Amino acid sequence: MRRPTWCIVRGSTGNTGSNRRRWDGSARARAPHSEIAITARDRRNTTALLQAVKERQLVVLVPNCNSKDITGSTGTLALVRKTNVAEGGVNASLKGLWRVRVEKVLEEREYARVRFTKAKEIDEASTRKSRIMQVVLGQVDEFAKLIPGIPDEIIEAFRSAETPGKLADLCACSPGFSSEERLDLLNTLGAEERLEKVSRHIERQLTALRELANVKMIPECETCTELTDRILESEPNLRGEIASEFLNHVVQKHPGELLGLIAEKYGLAFMTRRALK
Ligand SMILES: [Zn+2]
Repeated sequence: MRRPTWCIVRGSTGNTGSNRRRWDGSARARAPHSEIAITARDRRNTTALLQAVKERQLVVLVPNCNSKDITGSTGTLALVRKTNVAEGGVNASLKGLWRVRVEKVLEEREYARVRFTKAKEIDEASTRKSRIMQVVLGQVDEFAKLIPGIPDEIIEAFRSAETPGKLADLCACSPGFSSEERLDLLNTLGAEERLEKVSRHIERQLTALRELANVKMIPECETCTELTDRILESEPNLRGEIASEFLNHVVQKHPGELLGLIAEKYGLAFMTRRALK
């Protein structure tokens, strides 16, 4: 699958016409209910964005693999909050509103115009206490424990999500999701089904994090201690081989610590050389 190409649609809500234009292709699938920061570089995209500001501040972002035909695609209707014309493009902060379905491309000149409707999402507000919602909130808590640096506001935003659909879309904005996964989540209209998928992705990320958390530091690691003893006790001509085994183990099991050691010892020298280039 090719990286999704983004289209931007502007116009009014409901069944009325609107304008769309192709995105540069560097953007990722955007979930509704999220804050979105984008940079438009393609002239068609920048024109559509600035045009939207002059009118109702609404655009639709449509990821699409085949940019020639976006009819039937699911996209995100977004409110343009702020634009800033910069060198090489337009920076914009948007607020994702809801999923829309592109019904028809009406015209495509300076920027394209499409007709779209609100996608029928199945997301009951009363399912706040649903099982899957509790599962994901538990996963979020575990995440916060394993990565202590996550700001409280972000965790609080997850906790205050009102429905499974909103919680799923918030989670989908986190950096752990690939473009393909985001696109799949955008196209999943059933809120609980979407949250189930999110939960499976988070569980995979948690498994990797739990493994990392279980790895002991070099001074407490039995393998490291044993290999060090063997190096110290062996004949000098055999040390190279054991040292290589030791290094392989450290690269496999303590990559974070290894990078930390290199950064501490040589970081400044690397930075200085880079600055001189
Ligand atoms: Zn070790």
